[in-house]
Amino acid sequence: MNFNDYPRLSEDAKDLAKDIQDFCEKEVRQQTIEADKKDGDITEIIKKATDMGLNALDVPAEYGGPGLTKYDSVALLEQMAYYDAGFGITVSANGLASGPVVIGGNEEQKKRVYDIILGGGIGGFCLTEREAGCDASAGQATAEKDGDDYIINGTKCFITNGPIASYYVVFAMTDKSKGAGHGYTAFLVEKGTPGLSIGKHEDKMGIRCSQTSEVIFDNVRVPSSAIVGEIGHGFKLAMQTLDMARITCGITAVGICQRAIDEARDYIQQRVQFGAPLSKNETIQFKFADMYMRTQAARQLCLHATELYMDHKPFSAEAAAAKCAAGDAAMYCSTEAVQILGGYGYMRDYPVEKLMRDAKIFQIFEGTNEIQRLVMGRHVVGR
Ligand SMILES: Cc1cc2nc3c(=O)[nH]c(=O)nc-3n(C[C@H](O)[C@H](O)[C@H](O)COP(=O)(O)OP(=O)(O)OC[C@H]3O[C@@H](n4cnc5c(N)ncnc54)[C@H](O)[C@@H]3O)c2cc1C
Repeated sequence: MNFNDYPRLSEDAKDLAKDIQDFCEKEVRQQTIEADKKDGDITEIIKKATDMGLNALDVPAEYGGPGLTKYDSVALLEQMAYYDAGFGITVSANGLASGPVVIGGNEEQKKRVYDIILGGGIGGFCLTEREAGCDASAGQATAEKDGDDYIINGTKCFITNGPIASYYVVFAMTDKSKGAGHGYTAFLVEKGTPGLSIGKHEDKMGIRCSQTSEVIFDNVRVPSSAIVGEIGHGFKLAMQTLDMARITCGITAVGICQRAIDEARDYIQQRVQFGAPLSKNETIQFKFADMYMRTQAARQLCLHATELYMDHKPFSAEAAAAKCAAGDAAMYCSTEAVQILGGYGYMRDYPVEKLMRDAKIFQIFEGTNEIQRLVMGRHVVGR
């Protein structure tokens, strides 16, 4: 990591960045390339990463965490994603999964979730359903009151970390008559709760080292104490969580951008055509100028949204801009990297084709880039 990109990085985070670099050079760089060609299973690597506490970077010091700022953890995530975006998504997913608890949960729930995370756990955020993608308000999952308990039924799809999560926050309708706005409620459900099971495992184009699956709730009984925040306030909680998660999603994409630049730059130093290394060719250098410009812009948008978040200022539109710009930049930079490597870039012998496959999801999940543009458009122009 170039520390100039992160002038406000704390000394603790700088030390951790070096540890992460050493770890990723040894355990992630080559291993994820091999795993990507197979089923993407990196369970052993994730175990080592959680032993190092990389899943717990956002846990506050008063709960036993490292006490880093959000700025620090965002920077460190770029470092992890640089080596493999699927790895970065997996270990950082607690930001998304624990978000509703962090924002709206009570003290007992926060303590429980932070304990799970500090024990090496990773969570799953269960919002999407087959008929409720961009329109998350169309969810059909229900939670019916039964005495002091709730019975949750429904199938959530495309859930990151579905198969490996220790806890889930699931959104279900507690009062259909009120619609999603006031009828959706968030519940904290732990792995092993009877009736909770994992359905279809997705076979993906990219970020193959991140596990994605259905999570099925079949008469899952939970006590009322599992409600996160207020009853009927789940949709708002989901949207607030996604605002936060869009920053981390964006910075993960920036990791791909930086890796694409570095891989392509290394290649053109040694690739000779027309009697000279490609690095001497200005047309090629201009490509790097555009990749650099988009990467820096995306990184700065992520950091701007991060600083607004840290200062408790509104940041929804800024987070949407960060995620959208970073997703587009990752697609641009990885595609250009393939182009710069020519035919070799298209082959699996070089890592840039994987970067291009990994980049695509950043224009799709945690709100597609069309939805980010809707958020920004409404912010700028009004409804
Ligand atoms: C690998 C992966 C991991 C994921 N992880 C999670 C997770 O952990 N938790 C979770 O809850 N979900 C997760 N998702 C779901 C993800 O957030 C959704 O896929 C995404 O929100 C889009 O929904 P959809 O796929 O149903 O697309 P659709 O909603 O069917 O959209 C299809 C296309 O139409 C466009 N579109 C739709 N509505 C509009 C509109 N109003 N205006 C303009 N364009 C529109 C979309 O932008 C898109 O291009 C994940 C998805 C993937 C692929």
